[in-house]
Amino acid sequence: MSSCSSCDDSEKSELYSTNETFDQLLKSQPRLSFSFGIANSNGTGLVRRFATPMLQHFGVEAEKQPCTRADDPDNDQYSVKNGNSLCWSVLIRNDTGRLHNGSLLGNFGHVERLAAWSHLISGIAFLIYALLRPFYVTVDHTIAQSCTTSAAGSVAFAFLSSTIFHVTSPSKRLAVWTRQLDYFSIYTAMAFGYVADFAIATRSFENTSLLAVFDGPLACAIVAVFFLIRRTLLSAEETWDSYLGGCTISFGLMRKMHMDLAHTGARQATSFLLSISYFVTVPVLYDNFGSMEATTILLLECACIAILILGMVIDNAIVFPDVLLSEGKGPRFLACTNCGCIATSHSLWHILSVIAAVKGAASREYALSLQ
Ligand SMILES: [Zn+2]
Repeated sequence: MSSCSSCDDSEKSELYSTNETFDQLLKSQPRLSFSFGIANSNGTGLVRRFATPMLQHFGVEAEKQPCTRADDPDNDQYSVKNGNSLCWSVLIRNDTGRLHNGSLLGNFGHVERLAAWSHLISGIAFLIYALLRPFYVTVDHTIAQSCTTSAAGSVAFAFLSSTIFHVTSPSKRLAVWTRQLDYFSIYTAMAFGYVADFAIATRSFENTSLLAVFDGPLACAIVAVFFLIRRTLLSAEETWDSYLGGCTISFGLMRKMHMDLAHTGARQATSFLLSISYFVTVPVLYDNFGSMEATTILLLECACIAILILGMVIDNAIVFPDVLLSEGKGPRFLACTNCGCIATSHSLWHILSVIAAVKGAASREYALSLQ
């Protein structure tokens, strides 16, 4: 993902040694002022190798911009210093032993901090809701009620697993398996959510075949097993890479992670399909509820899915605001240097996923109240 190949020291020294021979020619020729700007000065290999020396030969000099990389040891605030606690560094104070001028995180921040805190707080809240629900919310302990409680518990499991992943994500060794835990818990929450929605729509599985009930969980299990096998076949070195680690104006946004590489599309497509699996319950929803109630439940669920899809687009497609911030274009109000947090695209995805989970739980409670 690092996009600034021109920053390699070997290539830089090659370019400068070439320039020395041109400098003598340039001294005897009139110069024009010309600038490629930051983006173009780090252009493609062809531009660097042929166009720049040619322009300089004819007296047009490209402005050389220094490249400062986000994953340079001096700018790296992602890796946690040996001997420091991962929990303390990510959640509270990340002391790298250096000062970080120009970092959006301040001197002691960590880019995973907001993502970790957002799912820690919401995970605890959902755990309390799931534990208290059978005593304070449920009147009849029907299958649909029990499935709804289980779904709330699975959301708590997903958010707390996500917190474990984000706290351990600076460790290449630990993140190999905590990332698997993170995805496993997401697929588990999707499976429990699917069964709960189906139980509500069919009034606790009245006249329902077992295959229809296990359809969703089976799909989640197949995807989880596929990516688990993939993980065991690849070494940690093959998948560990930096994200936004290239030439950067604002620092603190660089992340390292185990990438899905050639299977990124498969991961995104399967996640999208599993998250819209709710729609298979719509016909039975209209069969078992009045049109008005069924439409209300459906609209609530559609709003949840729309929020989830918006989060996926922000985090995976437009990567807002990470890319803009790394280019020094703002919006800087999303960064808090005093608390060492940035609302990255992934943090925004976390917040949207919490909103969707709350709305999903509310829509299930509304549907159950009609039964
Ligand atoms: Zn996450």
